Amino acid sequence: GSWLGMVGGGQLGRMFCHAAQSLGYKVAVLDPAAGCPAGGVADRHIQAAYDDPTALELLGSLCAAVSTEFENVPADSLRRLARHCAVSPSGDAVAVVQDRILEKAFITQAGVPVAPYCAVTDRSHIAQAPANLFPGILKAARLGYDGKGQARVTSREAALEAFDAFGGVPCVLEAMLPLADEISVVMARGYDDACVVYTPAHNEHRDGILAVSTVDPAAVQARQSLYAQAAQAARRIAGQLDYRGVLCVEFFILDDGSLVANEIAPRPHNSGHHTINACVSSQFDQQVRVMTGLPLGSAHSHSASVMLNILGDLWFDAAGQTREPDWAGVLRFDHAHLHLYGKAEARKGRKMGHITVTGATLGQAREQAAGVARVLGLAYS
Ligand code: ATP
Ligand code: MG
Ligand code: MG
Repeated sequence: GSWLGMVGGGQLGRMFCHAAQSLGYKVAVLDPAAGCPAGGVADRHIQAAYDDPTALELLGSLCAAVSTEFENVPADSLRRLARHCAVSPSGDAVAVVQDRILEKAFITQAGVPVAPYCAVTDRSHIAQAPANLFPGILKAARLGYDGKGQARVTSREAALEAFDAFGGVPCVLEAMLPLADEISVVMARGYDDACVVYTPAHNEHRDGILAVSTVDPAAVQARQSLYAQAAQAARRIAGQLDYRGVLCVEFFILDDGSLVANEIAPRPHNSGHHTINACVSSQFDQQVRVMTGLPLGSAHSHSASVMLNILGDLWFDAAGQTREPDWAGVLRFDHAHLHLYGKAEARKGRKMGHITVTGATLGQAREQAAGVARVLGLAYS
C-alpha cells in the first residue's frame, strides 16, 4: 500500500494510524520522542525534530500525503513538506490558528463573534485596554493548551503582573464571559470543498482540561437553531481558511444564549473522540479520506455518547502510590469503549486515554457513564 505521513506522534497520531492502516495505508510518523504513542503503531517512526530538514525531506518523499496532529507544528515544516507531497492542512492555515492574535482577528473577519479582547504585545496595551476586559483572562498567543499559559486576572495590575510573569511574550487579553455551556464542532473539508459536520459535543472542563464530552443526537431537533448557527460558523471559518482536513471550532454559549467562538484546532479534537464509537465514520477516518482524496464518510451519530477523559491522576492512590486503574471493572459496563494511548509514564494532568460510553439514548449512555465514573473514582454528575 502507499504511505501516509503524520507530523506528531501523540494519541491523535496513534488513532490516525489505526484509521489509515484499516484503509490499507502504511503510516510514517515524525516525532522526536522514542516510545511516543503513535511510534509503536506506525509502520515507520522517523525519530527527529519537527523541523529537521533531512527528516522532512525523507517523510515528504516517502509519503503521498502528510497531515499533522498537533497545533504547534512549525508551519514552515508543512510548507517544506508541500514541495514533495500533498499536505493538509496547509502551513498557511495552521499559522493563523496557532497564534491567538491572528486567530481572533481571522474569526472576527469571518463574521463570527469572539469574546471582547485586545492583543497585548507591550505593557502599554494593558494600560490602554478597555475596562470591559476585566475580569479577564490573559492568554499567551502561542503554545498554550489544556489551560496552560493562561492567567485569570481581575484587574489591570494583575494583568500586568501576569504579562511580566509570562516573560512579556505576545498575549491576548479577553473578557471573562458568563458561560452557560461549551460546545465544539468537529468537521472535515475535502479538496473538492465537500464538508461533513458532526453533531456538536457539549464539553465540561476541569482545571482547564477537557473532562467530559456529551453528544445527544435526539436533542438536535430541539437545539436546531443553536447547532445550525455553530455549524455554519465552523463551515465559514473552514472555507475562508481554505482549510483541507479535519478541524474543530470550540464555542462558548453565554447566559443569554448567544454563541461566541473560542478557538480553532487544526486537527482532530479530543471532543471528537466519540466519533470512533458513536458515528458512522470517525474523525480520523475523515482525516485519511481528505488526505487521499477519497469521498468523505457520513458524520451521522448512530448512538448517543458520553466521553470521559482518563488522566494520569488515576494511576495514583490517595497515598501517592502508583496503581493500575480497574479496567475490568470499567468494562463490566457493556457499552463502554476503552481507548488507552500506550503512554509509558502516567503523570498527573496527562491524557492517558478515554472511555466512550454509547447508548441508544443519552439516558442509557449517562447511566453507564456514571457507573464507569464510580469504578474509577471520577467526578461525574
Ligand atoms: P485547549 O486544551 O482546548 O486547547 P486552551 O489552553 O487553548 O485549551 P482555552 O480553550 O482558551 O484554552 O480555554 C480553556 C477553558 O477555559 C475554556 O474551555 C473555558 O472553559 C475557559 N475559558 C477560556 N476563555 C474563557 C473566557 N473568555 N471566559 C470564560 N471562560 C473561559
Ligand atoms: Mg487551545
Ligand atoms: Mg480550548
